[in-house]
Amino acid sequence: MNRKTAGLYIHVPFCRRKCPYCDFFSIPELTLLPAWLQAVCREAKYYQGKFKCFNTVYFGGGTPSLLSPSNLDFLLENLRRIFLITPEAEITLEMNPEDVSREKLRKLQGLGINRISLGLQSLDDEALTFLGRRHTAFQAEKALGQALEAGFSSVSVDLIYGLPGQKKQRWEKVLSRVAASRPHHVSCYLLTIKEGTFFARKILNGQPPLFWEKVQRDLFLFTSRWWKNQGYLHYEVSNFAVSSKHRCAHNLKYWQRQPYLGLGPSAHSFSQNKRWWNVSSVKEYCRLVSSGFHPVAERERLEPAQEKLETLFLGLRTADGVSLALFSNLPEDKKTLLEKQGLVKTRDDRLFCTEQGFLFTDALPLWLTGDFPLKVVAKGR
Ligand code: SF4
Repeated sequence: MNRKTAGLYIHVPFCRRKCPYCDFFSIPELTLLPAWLQAVCREAKYYQGKFKCFNTVYFGGGTPSLLSPSNLDFLLENLRRIFLITPEAEITLEMNPEDVSREKLRKLQGLGINRISLGLQSLDDEALTFLGRRHTAFQAEKALGQALEAGFSSVSVDLIYGLPGQKKQRWEKVLSRVAASRPHHVSCYLLTIKEGTFFARKILNGQPPLFWEKVQRDLFLFTSRWWKNQGYLHYEVSNFAVSSKHRCAHNLKYWQRQPYLGLGPSAHSFSQNKRWWNVSSVKEYCRLVSSGFHPVAERERLEPAQEKLETLFLGLRTADGVSLALFSNLPEDKKTLLEKQGLVKTRDDRLFCTEQGFLFTDALPLWLTGDFPLKVVAKGR
């Protein structure tokens, strides 16, 4: 796969209801779905000729599995007419377990969707209730089985852990049940309290903190080792794959600073040294696009020094790390200190994080360079 070919992201901003931990942009009602479908196709036309070819397409959200196969057919047909989507392109659809059925999966395959990312979050009913999910562990396991049985090129599973009071043994049970099905890819996210979420409001209202950092760190290291023992590659802070070909090609573009175009409300785009992102409001997005306006909320142009820092910040999130040739001016004493502390390693002229270092990827660029880390905006979870 050509690494420089761009990725296409479509933000589906609809959910049945808002989960208490989630800060992704979505609205819990579907009335604007038909207008959104038209607007995405119209927005895509604006980029015809500016972005020519994509080798990854990612339907993220929100809840993309709320779209019917005919909605997805309409979108893909339009996108294929406007852009060149390579025949071998990785095409991912995020799905919630309650939307999975054998019949739907078959139809999705017929549309060329070859990768399913399942939002299981857990296989423990108590954890699912705490997270405000609509599905049960039974439904989640069934959906995973059906997606694997259907024969997609890749099936990925999202899990959330580090819940308040969650014991290692209980989390390990979830891991074991997931691993028994041997999905091609697993994303394990530590529960974090994000501004503007229901969980954040609970804390601001004087409730005790939901978890302890130390417990989460131990669980993170445990999880990394656990998947490695199962033969999975820990290729990015939160991501594991059965082999390098099952790494998420679309998300790798974010971490490797390759170009991507985001369509839909709140979607982010990046090309060369420019980044821009759309307005969030679905209503405003549809209004702007249907009136012939560009729905961009803000743009930024990165200076060379910012680009370099961003390369370091994003590169250290992946097991590939960064080329030392690009960072020959990093202070030697700081690098040596971090190596001694077991947070980074150097090999084959590359600098990369250890498992421990993955816990500090936000701070490492600051420690290494003495600069403040940049706020990197990319929709890649
Ligand atoms: S976690 Fe997923 S389903 Fe829940 S509100 Fe966020 S985007 Fe919607």
